Amino acid sequence: MTAVAVETDSAVRVPHEAGAFQRLFEPSEVTLEDTILGAWEALTAHGRTECPVCHGELVATGCETCGSHLS
Ligand SMILES: [Zn+2]
Repeated sequence: MTAVAVETDSAVRVPHEAGAFQRLFEPSEVTLEDTILGAWEALTAHGRTECPVCHGELVATGCETCGSHLS
């Protein structure tokens, strides 16, 4: 299963855990895609970033706090 496969702005395919993203970030303000891309860019640039779900530490293998991962 692909964790994040964005087809269009209105047809975003997400895993069950992405519901947490959508509750935290209203689509009208920051899209899920923007949130994921921003986190992914920070992760690839720095090797770690803040988890968009729990604000824990997100590394290449996933969030060390809640277990979420971007891909
Ligand atoms: Zn987390």
